[in-house]
Amino acid sequence: MITGIEATLWLLERRSSYQRCVMTSIESKNVGGVKSGSATESMAGCPAHVVKDRLKVAGLRPTRQRLALGWMLFGKGHRHVTAEKLYEEATAMRVNLSLATVYNTLHQFTQAALLREIAVDGSKTWFDTNTSRHHHFLIEGENVLVDIPGHMVDIARLPPLPDGLEIVDVDVVVRVRRIG
Ligand SMILES: [Zn+2]
Repeated sequence: MITGIEATLWLLERRSSYQRCVMTSIESKNVGGVKSGSATESMAGCPAHVVKDRLKVAGLRPTRQRLALGWMLFGKGHRHVTAEKLYEEATAMRVNLSLATVYNTLHQFTQAALLREIAVDGSKTWFDTNTSRHHHFLIEGENVLVDIPGHMVDIARLPPLPDGLEIVDVDVVVRVRRIG
């Protein structure tokens, strides 16, 4: 039986001419075993397989829900999303997931280092598919984050740290707005 997520993936991939890839990905779910070099090579550029491989490398079982969200997150270049935004997209694409599942999956991806969590303000958590060291512009009023390469921000001075603490990371968010 084809589930809602399978059907949606199929439609999405068919529209973007990746039908063969995603169907192979789903059908080979229980096959396991070692992929031959040529098979891997023939799938180069196939987002569904790339997503599946990324999940496996990160130690996450490629469930249909993770594949669907992973495809939405990693299939189209770097993205900044909130759980709510991703949930809306999934709903619009008729991927039947709850907001709680989207939250959980985003946190699992973050723990597996596939995503980076960015705290922009107290009320909202953003997830970034670009896990390299970098900072952000936040365009106020549009709720859009734009990457700033890490080397373009020079943090010249930080206060002394309280005893027993060390810096994990410094995230810079430069708030900007459109002029006029
Ligand atoms: Zn970013």
